[in-house]
Amino acid sequence: MASEANLTAMDGPARRLSGVQAAIAKAARHAGRNPQDVTLIAVSKTHGAEMIRPVIAAGQRHFGENRVQEAQAKWPALKAQAPDVVLHLIGALQSNKAEDAVRLFDVIHALDREKLAAALSAAIKKLGRTPQLFVQVNTGEEPQKAGIAPNEAVAFVTSCREVHGLSISGLMCIPPEDEEPAMHFALLAKLAGQAGVAGLSMGMSGDFETAIALGATHVRVGTAIFGARGKVAER
Ligand SMILES: *Cc1c(COP(=O)(O)O)cnc(C)c1O
Repeated sequence: MASEANLTAMDGPARRLSGVQAAIAKAARHAGRNPQDVTLIAVSKTHGAEMIRPVIAAGQRHFGENRVQEAQAKWPALKAQAPDVVLHLIGALQSNKAEDAVRLFDVIHALDREKLAAALSAAIKKLGRTPQLFVQVNTGEEPQKAGIAPNEAVAFVTSCREVHGLSISGLMCIPPEDEEPAMHFALLAKLAGQAGVAGLSMGMSGDFETAIALGATHVRVGTAIFGARGKVAER
């Protein structure tokens, strides 16, 4: 019964997904890396279930959202259909939403301050659920952007471990829009080495190949899979 227009709309993101998967595999092989070592997070923020379902049907399992409330509205129903979906929180997290985030998300990429580390630690103990945690680093030292300063990142990872009892999986960054991303990815990789963490969450639609060349283990790709988002939703 699906109209032709419906079929085309449903085919779009799934087809673009396979293009992104191929580009990831190519970039990984080019860097002498195993494509399996790069996890693609399909960033579905602002997009509705009708856009997300075909991507799940195509086999994609890692998804990223940047707002707790939006994810709470969308994902319980989608997860009921695909219980093995791995949900990533890639946006800023307020300490008072730490419990909600620990309840819903499997990976949290935006740990960047002591207060949030304490709140996540308490939520993890209370709920008995342990999401993987990435520390966000503000590699461009932009005042408007979240993330810990690069020169405080290693000490913060140590504090997360020793003061808050948290296990840290990796580091995450969002390079400044008007700068060459490669130097930011290289800085993040260097800091991860110093902090003794293996995960590198870096690279988006415009620069994931560069990120993979510099060691990304997690790339966060929205537009190249789901198409453009509404302007209002850009944060
Ligand atoms: C929206 C977003 C992405 C995806 O960006 P695209 O350019 O659409 O691929 C990646 N990471 C974070 C933190 C985001 O907020």
